[in-house]
Amino acid sequence: MQRECLDVLVVGAGAFGAVSALELAQRGHQVTILDRTTIGPHPSASSNDISKMIRMDYGSDIFYHELADYSLDIWEQWNEEWPKRLYHPERFLVLAAKPFEPGSFEFESERVLRQRGYTPERFNAAQLAAKWPAWNASLYPQGYLSPRGGWAESGAVVSRLLESGRTEGVHFIQGALDEVLSKGSQVSGVRYRERNGSMNTLTADRVVVAAGAWTPILLPWLEDTLKPVAQPIIHYEVEDPSQWQSPIFPPFAADTSGSGWYGFPSLQDGRLKLGHHGNGRVADPDSRGEVSKEHLDHARSFLRSSLPKLSDVPVVGTRVCLYCDTFDGDLWIGEDPERSGLIVAAGGSGHGFKFTPMIGKIVGDALEKRDNRWLYRFDWRERGKPRKEAARLQL
Ligand SMILES: Cc1cc2nc3c(=O)[nH]c(=O)nc-3n(C[C@H](O)[C@H](O)[C@H](O)COP(=O)(O)OP(=O)(O)OC[C@H]3O[C@@H](n4cnc5c(N)ncnc54)[C@H](O)[C@@H]3O)c2cc1C
Repeated sequence: MQRECLDVLVVGAGAFGAVSALELAQRGHQVTILDRTTIGPHPSASSNDISKMIRMDYGSDIFYHELADYSLDIWEQWNEEWPKRLYHPERFLVLAAKPFEPGSFEFESERVLRQRGYTPERFNAAQLAAKWPAWNASLYPQGYLSPRGGWAESGAVVSRLLESGRTEGVHFIQGALDEVLSKGSQVSGVRYRERNGSMNTLTADRVVVAAGAWTPILLPWLEDTLKPVAQPIIHYEVEDPSQWQSPIFPPFAADTSGSGWYGFPSLQDGRLKLGHHGNGRVADPDSRGEVSKEHLDHARSFLRSSLPKLSDVPVVGTRVCLYCDTFDGDLWIGEDPERSGLIVAAGGSGHGFKFTPMIGKIVGDALEKRDNRWLYRFDWRERGKPRKEAARLQL
């Protein structure tokens, strides 16, 4: 099929916007990114963090397992191509609070891994205590080490993608989207606020809104579909980083669908990050508040019980990060059926970063109206029964 060269405006320079802009430029389109900063992901962007988990473990949901598997091929390729390796394939330690049983996140994730040809290393409490002694094995009778996965330096990944975009001719404009403009039902561009406060307009054949948790505020007709949901992140500082790094301390999920807790090995500077993949609270992305004392206490009691040597580890930083939640936990990527030329790429629902390598292709195909096997689940859809992705706290 002959490609038409289009003027595309991408709103948002987080992971979804950066990789979409790069892909669209590589496909020969004239691409401009509009964000509130031009030097990288905005400090408050969800993608802008020291680390994100990259895992294939999705309970019985083979769709995400496969999408992560494809993404991992590209994460590995990027590691070869980029000047610095930003994906760390340190695997993923999955701990279960009960012996494995059909239907549980851990049992089903491990079953799907085996079904798809992987060999996860299953262990019992005694083996956990022997191999990963930081863990209180009496709380985790079973688990497995997922053979493929790890974590990525997410903020640095986005900066790298933006840099690659620049090389491919992507143009950057600093400003805040105010309104998507249309002629009839066809999108024609945007009005945006410049840094100095004055309003300006940009014309475009297609507008891709990849504004993460801000998307439902910018496109208010999506406010029942996409919700900005605040989630806490805590950074601790360990005394001896070498004791808290892979392989003795791999990235982990500790009874994640029952407790919400997951975390990362220590960085070289001693920072060890703990996150909670829970329900969170709906919040305004621009006044998201602080991590509450209640949450800090909750995290401390998790450390005391599960990782006793970290009982008194000092907190050196906290961050409230915003999920862009969909009602069903699936990403939201597709053309607005009522506004031709408006493509939305959002709805990461707290697990979207790992798919960054595949997002550009999915967005590119949505924009060019090409078939894409992943779109059927991400495309514009009627609000249905609420669901969450399998690793998220299910209570
Ligand atoms: C606490 C937390 C932990 C997570 N952990 C993981 C994990 O371990 N693994 C994983 O795979 N995923 C994880 N995620 C999800 C992942 O971070 C997101 O799915 C992904 O980063 C979303 O990227 P994005 O580009 O959609 O949004 P963002 O990164 O938020 O980018 C949105 C961009 O839009 C811009 N913008 C906003 N308003 C405007 C405007 N008016 N005009 C112009 N630009 C605007 C912002 O400045 C920002 O740069 C986590 C998310 C959070 C919050």
